[in-house]
Amino acid sequence: MDIKTVVDETEKYYLPVFGRYPLVLDHGKGCRLYDAEGNEYIDFLAGIAVNALGHAHPVLVNAIANQAAKLMHCSNLYYTEIQAKAVKVIAEVSGFDRVFLANSGAEANEGALKLARKYGKEKAEGKYRIITAVHSFHGRTMMTLTATGQPKYQHGYEPLPQGYEYVEYGDIAALEAAMGDDVCAVLLEPIQGEGGVHVPSDEYLRQARALCDKHDALLIFDEIQTGVGRTGKWFAYMHSGVKPDVLTFAKGIGGGFPMGGFAVAEKFAHVFKPGDHGSTFGGNPLACAAAYACLTAIKAENLVDKAAVQGVYFKAELEKLQKKYPDKVKEVRGRGLILGMELCKEGKAVVESCLQEHVIVNCTAGNVIRLVPPLIVTKEEIDIVVAALDKALAAF
Ligand SMILES: *Cc1c(COP(=O)(O)O)cnc(C)c1O
Repeated sequence: MDIKTVVDETEKYYLPVFGRYPLVLDHGKGCRLYDAEGNEYIDFLAGIAVNALGHAHPVLVNAIANQAAKLMHCSNLYYTEIQAKAVKVIAEVSGFDRVFLANSGAEANEGALKLARKYGKEKAEGKYRIITAVHSFHGRTMMTLTATGQPKYQHGYEPLPQGYEYVEYGDIAALEAAMGDDVCAVLLEPIQGEGGVHVPSDEYLRQARALCDKHDALLIFDEIQTGVGRTGKWFAYMHSGVKPDVLTFAKGIGGGFPMGGFAVAEKFAHVFKPGDHGSTFGGNPLACAAAYACLTAIKAENLVDKAAVQGVYFKAELEKLQKKYPDKVKEVRGRGLILGMELCKEGKAVVESCLQEHVIVNCTAGNVIRLVPPLIVTKEEIDIVVAALDKALAAF
């Protein structure tokens, strides 16, 4: 198919929910993507913080190919060695005792919220309120779009599930005012990703922990975007030392293969009894092979520490751009390889100008350039992207 046919056929048959760039991608290698004509791009979006190992990493490719030839799916009615290996390594790197596996971020949060509701119900009738933050993002299912503190994701889907309340992110007093013994969970991103890369203070997270303890509510951290090494630790909670009761993950966990899930401390492992939750595809051998290979490769290549080091360099380079264009760049935020550059106006032109330079970046929350490259990114690649951003900002 030629490029025009690919675009036309997709637009003809796919539901019109995405605003896409007219770019037809064919393959990738490392931090590079190639379009159907062989043009090369530097990928600093990584499929929205997904391709932790970049594209076509041989360890991941071989693991998936070998497992596909062996056993792709068999249901959770039986055991597989690869699932045992996957949940063990996820427990180890997350610092949690028990794991449930699903197929996406929304499903991960959906399961965690179901666990919280069940936990509340066991404690007291009416203990079902769930508190989340304004500008959060937690997914697109009915429960998770309701948990998402942004009306634009909810409009048209009313009536929404009940019992949700939203508080200003980072505002300890607001959270305290919303808390009560009828709260079963507080759900927070330890860094808001989609909402514009907002980093709260450690003190805020500590207070959230203390309030959840006081009111016997579960503290759930949505680490779907911040997890798996992205912030320079295995999970973002490890920076503050504030450990949630439930940790949700997805995006980077399979290095590009769809997987999500959540981890809980042992004391909450028995909230779900057999039959209370489940998934046909969740934790299938193919996904587990991908996650096991991805996490093993991240360990072997020391990519968590490398993300921290490259993140410090990248952030400093972005701060230089802020100094150079003080009337165009408002703030640089983030940690490790989740960085945001807030612009003084809509950022679409910057994204388009970078694309002209064959650099793929993303704009979120309207005016925040979000930079979430693969964890394998090099200093040279960061320099190329900073140069493209420099050029884009000059014309902005
Ligand atoms: C992407 C994302 C989700 C939703 O994940 P899906 O796989 O798209 O369902 C949930 N929470 C956060 C923080 C995310 O970044």
